[in-house]
Amino acid sequence: MNTRYETVIGLETHIELKTETKAFCSCSAVYGDEPNTHCCPVCTGMPGALPVLNAKAVELAVKAGLLLHCRVSLWSKMDRKNYYYPDLPKAYQISQYDRPLCTGGWLDIPSGEGTKRIRIERIHLEEDAGKLLHTENGTLLDLNRCGVPLIEIVTMPDFRGPEEVTAYLRELRERIRFAGISDCRMNEGSLRCDVNLSIRPVGEKHLGERAEIKNLNSFQFAAKAIAYEAERQAAVLDAGGVLFPETRGFNESTGTTFSMRRKESQSDYHFFPEPDLPPIVLTQETVERWKSELPEPPSSRRERWQERWSLARETAEALTVSREAADSFERAAGMTRYPKQLAVLLAADPARLETERIPVSDKHLAALADLLGSGAVGNAAAKELLERLWQEDADPVEMAERLGLGKITDRAALEELAREVIGSCARMAQDYRAGKTAALQALIGQMMRRTQGRADPELSREILLNLLKSQ
Ligand code: ADP
Ligand code: MG
Ligand code: ZN
Repeated sequence: MNTRYETVIGLETHIELKTETKAFCSCSAVYGDEPNTHCCPVCTGMPGALPVLNAKAVELAVKAGLLLHCRVSLWSKMDRKNYYYPDLPKAYQISQYDRPLCTGGWLDIPSGEGTKRIRIERIHLEEDAGKLLHTENGTLLDLNRCGVPLIEIVTMPDFRGPEEVTAYLRELRERIRFAGISDCRMNEGSLRCDVNLSIRPVGEKHLGERAEIKNLNSFQFAAKAIAYEAERQAAVLDAGGVLFPETRGFNESTGTTFSMRRKESQSDYHFFPEPDLPPIVLTQETVERWKSELPEPPSSRRERWQERWSLARETAEALTVSREAADSFERAAGMTRYPKQLAVLLAADPARLETERIPVSDKHLAALADLLGSGAVGNAAAKELLERLWQEDADPVEMAERLGLGKITDRAALEELAREVIGSCARMAQDYRAGKTAALQALIGQMMRRTQGRADPELSREILLNLLKSQ
């Protein structure tokens, strides 16, 4: 990037709320069904149909605000934003204009060595539009997303580059998911963002003219669009040109942005209060109750665990892929003497933890950690037990016995096995005696293989060493 300019970015992030039904009618908000199967007179804008606000949408929007340290308005209202587009049958979107649900928060993001605070301007509630599908034979319209509740989170222009934007989106997505506010699936469009970007000469206080790049639906695209757009604006200024407020799109195949229109202004939308909905009135008690229901954010849990049990960062990250996994690990960790072993064992398969329900009880997870930590079963056996517990939530101690997964510590049995191994791997034994110490590890490996990993490694080593010396 041209070093004479500083890039300034503000983000508008749209997040679909995880409600059963749409924002103003009782149609299902489920994603991915047959087109136009979840529609009614309200969400398709038939004359005379009246909206009723979904209380759950208000709760989730306020919870998002509380996660981001916002002020919650006890009195807010819905407004009509008027514009025509084929995916919007009412020809207006019910949104919030001058009295949004939440204002003035912040989110700290990792940046360089420390953290950086991104200020949140406001969060408002609104409805999604339908989906246009452009095909060879014309454009198709699916109204299933029409009326699905969304929040729009608007930041102050606090970002200075793509890394900060990505860090913010990551942190935001994780918190929102954890609190059950949204799935934030970018590929399903339940999280998408508009990037507002301007540049200014380094040292300049005033903001430059911004371009708003619409509807970026992956972190990578957001980062690419930023890099391209900053260069483009710099080239315009360097050539003596002028920038003007503009709405741009992003071409995913070329990685470039393109002009769509001069930026519309707020007055173009003729906002006015939604006459069919009463204002949203909340009590402080309700807001407090919602606040008390919020989970501790994953980033702060990770820090706590890393410090307390000296977990690797990757391990802590794997355990926070879902709220269920994090809660379940934390409860079980409190019941075993070996929380770290439990963490490492669970984190070995993060895909399994990405779930809404951990099928193993805390008690059994803790018992498994005890088996592993105390040395009663080895690593391979613990992995197998965990695998089986996932199928059947049983007592791992009994299970280990039933399946004969306990560690083999019987000296006589191991000695016999060691003789066999030395006999059939004479070459390795020779190598060892000739001074290749690595061969010992290979011999231990043979013992492990022949016992499906159950031979006690320490004891096997000792026995092999004795035999190798005496023979
Ligand atoms: P609009 O609907 O006109 O896009 P919003 O208030 O919804 O307005 O969003 C404005 C966004 O643009 C905010 O994130 C804000 O921080 C950002 N922004 C405003 N001015 C600039 C600027 N000059 N450069 C970069 N970002 C800006
Ligand atoms: Mg905007
Ligand atoms: Zn409907």
